[in-house]
Amino acid sequence: MYVSVQFVRNRSGKVLALVQGYTFYLEKQCNYTQLWRCTKGGRCKARFTLPNDQLMFVKSCLNHQHKFQKYIVEDGVYIKQNKTQIMFAKSRYGKDMVLLGDYTYSFVNKCISKSTTNWRCSSHNHKGCLAKVVLDSKKKVIAVKGKHNHKPFDYKIHKDYCQLIPLPSGRKLLKIGCHTYSSNNKDTGGLTTWYCSKRISKKCPASAKLYNGELTVVLKDHTH
Ligand SMILES: [Zn+2]
Ligand SMILES: [Zn+2]
Ligand SMILES: [Zn+2]
Repeated sequence: MYVSVQFVRNRSGKVLALVQGYTFYLEKQCNYTQLWRCTKGGRCKARFTLPNDQLMFVKSCLNHQHKFQKYIVEDGVYIKQNKTQIMFAKSRYGKDMVLLGDYTYSFVNKCISKSTTNWRCSSHNHKGCLAKVVLDSKKKVIAVKGKHNHKPFDYKIHKDYCQLIPLPSGRKLLKIGCHTYSSNNKDTGGLTTWYCSKRISKKCPASAKLYNGELTVVLKDHTH
């Protein structure tokens, strides 16, 4: 059976096979064949075997127990498009913020009787944007109200302190205040994620997001 297999990399550089919208990882490399398994693992038994030198399935089972995620492939990199993914961050003034889709929202108030919280677009004050988000007590999105009257990522945090330092390897080092960050991306165009240089030595979870080389947001506090 001939199928279309596309080889891509994930954000951390690992090779994945993309078949019918699903991603597979290389589970076993044998002398003449490769066994690829669905990255979902667990109950999903989807897998296939490829000869080392041909894009032809020797054996395959492509019945997944789940739907595939929306994604885009940008320069061979597989990027999940999870628009409802929600993240929490602090602005440079220490205010709580929510990142949802490509927009950031600032905390407005809490509704005690319904134990929900209300957030409005961070561009409310300088652009008059009326988009709002309501979260329940478990910080799940209940409602997104209104449309944004502007493009995403016009709200920059820590912008003044952001500096990109070229390294001999061709990669860049991001410096924000006293902290440095590194990224797998050589190119700083589009949206890129940067991880604290002490993420291994100090188990620091802090990361930063850049949009076309400009700092957009810092996620999570440094542990050092
Ligand atoms: Zn699967
Ligand atoms: Zn807005
Ligand atoms: Zn850190």
